[in-house]
Amino acid sequence: MQPVNLKKHKKNFQQNKRKLRHFITRTENNPPQNLELLSKKKNKEVWAEINCISCANCCKGMSPTYTFGDIKRIASHLGMRPKDFKEKWLYRDKKENDWMNKSRPCQFLNLKTNKCTIYEVRPADCAGFPHLVKTPITDYMHVHKQNIEYCPATLLFVEKIYEAMQH
Ligand code: SF4
Ligand code: SF4
Repeated sequence: MQPVNLKKHKKNFQQNKRKLRHFITRTENNPPQNLELLSKKKNKEVWAEINCISCANCCKGMSPTYTFGDIKRIASHLGMRPKDFKEKWLYRDKKENDWMNKSRPCQFLNLKTNKCTIYEVRPADCAGFPHLVKTPITDYMHVHKQNIEYCPATLLFVEKIYEAMQH
């Protein structure tokens, strides 16, 4: 398995974003019958090619959303009060009303190893990311549309589905 090349990913995203985002919208509005089966197959292929430890771009460039359950669990793991945890690291996003990281990269990312230092108690959003085979898949299309910019696995997933649907 090759390490993720983020420069190559960025270039690939720039070259194909319009085509792929249009494709995602079209598929969202008019999903083919075999979409879930195809997604499962392509998801497997993606993870045979992508190694997240060589990437960690989601933890570097994006913020997870924290539920109250996440905040309670992580604060307790760190021996903090939820209130202090929020004050130190989070802010409330006005638009979506979500708790998010104040800074990027995420404060819990070890930048030397690319590993999460709170892995066992990480937010549910992180544990499920990049949500490639969540169902109904059409509910996650808008997420993929955004994430192809940051996540090489999502970009590869959408490219593979695009290619498969051209035949
Ligand atoms: S909590 Fe862990 S998995 Fe989630 S963004 Fe931060 S470093 Fe990454
Ligand atoms: S989920 Fe995507 S962005 Fe995050 S480490 Fe894996 S490939 Fe990179």
